[in-house]
Amino acid sequence: MLLEIDDVSLLYGRIQALHGISLTVDEGEIVALIGANGAGKSTTMRAISGIRPVASGSIRFDGEDITKLRADLRVRRGLCQAPEGRGIFPGMTVLENLDMGAYTRRDRAGIAQDLDRVLGLFPRLAERRRQQGGTLSGGEQQMLAVGRALMSRPKLLLLDEPSMGLAPMLIQQIFDIIVEINQQGTTVLLVEQNAQQALARAHRAYVLETGRIVKSGTGAELLHDPAVKEAYLGVA
Ligand code: ATP
Repeated sequence: MLLEIDDVSLLYGRIQALHGISLTVDEGEIVALIGANGAGKSTTMRAISGIRPVASGSIRFDGEDITKLRADLRVRRGLCQAPEGRGIFPGMTVLENLDMGAYTRRDRAGIAQDLDRVLGLFPRLAERRRQQGGTLSGGEQQMLAVGRALMSRPKLLLLDEPSMGLAPMLIQQIFDIIVEINQQGTTVLLVEQNAQQALARAHRAYVLETGRIVKSGTGAELLHDPAVKEAYLGVA
């Protein structure tokens, strides 16, 4: 198991956002986390990446307990979260932004190889490589955020709402790219409002409701689950 979350609870002051959630991600998988607004999806990601400390429970990654490990040290071990929304550096060029993603690495040849890979995955970024990040369209900035995370060559890529705010055609594209990234060997944990698209591509998925995991199964199982359909897919 690459990631193993066991009985994790998390508090924001007096508000308990996670109530003992457990989930696993196996090497090679795409796992999706779906749920309504405020269910705790982003909070789960923050617990995994180490941005917020957990109140109880444990998180194991790649064979080690990382429950109390600092966020930057998690990145060094191969656990990288693409910034929420458009968290890129607006004053830096596309190439400089991508370079920043590799800041933990010293293997120049590997970095150059990954840069080629990212520019291959995102031809729009390749065309705009010398353009400042802040002048890119919203969709392009989102792609840059994913590309930058890939530059750390993560074992596990955490994606929080990669399709948020994108036009329908770009949503399709970003999901296709996620599948391609996965097929090239990166394990992916994905949080999505867009449950239909996420479940259609995920090997497995979990449903979060008010800080608890209420259901899990293969993407296909959940896609055809009547309760999931009614609550999250907009079909009765
Ligand atoms: P959304 O899709 O709307 O972002 P989500 O499933 O990602 O929803 P979270 O953002 O994880 O949900 O929020 C879970 C709960 O924790 C919500 O009740 C939210 O109001 C609360 N919460 C989130 N961040 C904070 C914070 N920084 N301080 C206090 N409460 C917070």
